[in-house]
Amino acid sequence: MSRVRQTRQERNRSVDRFQLYKPFIFYTAVILLMQSAVVRGGESSLTTFAGLFVVGLLTWGLYEYATHRWVLHREPKAEGFNLPGNLTHLRHHADPDSLQRLNVQLSESVPVCVVYFLVAWALAGSWQAATHLYTGLIAGYFFYEYLDFQAHHGTSRGRLTRYFRKYHLQHHHYDATVRFGVTSPIFDYLFGTFHIEKRGGADRSLRLTATNQGGK
Ligand SMILES: [Zn+2]
Ligand SMILES: [Zn+2]
Repeated sequence: MSRVRQTRQERNRSVDRFQLYKPFIFYTAVILLMQSAVVRGGESSLTTFAGLFVVGLLTWGLYEYATHRWVLHREPKAEGFNLPGNLTHLRHHADPDSLQRLNVQLSESVPVCVVYFLVAWALAGSWQAATHLYTGLIAGYFFYEYLDFQAHHGTSRGRLTRYFRKYHLQHHHYDATVRFGVTSPIFDYLFGTFHIEKRGGADRSLRLTATNQGGK
């Protein structure tokens, strides 16, 4: 079956904007509500907010890296249970230009957010501190959605966008065993998956077999 190839510009024009903006609208509203409750309580300073925001941002980077490397890239089972997102991500590798799933679905992200918030609350000892951590996490998540879109369908020519677009597309088209970070190379550096080996060895771009494309 042949697929009509569209240019990046053509794809961009046919994007469903509501689907694209849905998580941004939803989580911006959630964050505004939570932060306004913190401000009304009057117990948090700007310094506390800034510090916890950065920690939250870093936890996003670690979460993104760990999930991408150790959950989404697992070899799927032909039958039975596969970890959430596993098959979806492998399909994304098989067809990176698809406009079917522009972003993470709310049904997938909301449970993660709830668990994150509860763990952050337990560790930080207050819901106000957890709210700041959570705000950092969501900022990282927004940056992820923006960059993943820009990598595959966006037309932005900004320097930062071009750097991360190239970074992510190397993971897709050159070597799928490196460059798992989307919003930051920090964790690729730390876990030894930053370096790209020169061509000549085995092809490590991820190719799917007919059996594991069919599931879910
Ligand atoms: Zn991947
Ligand atoms: Zn991608």
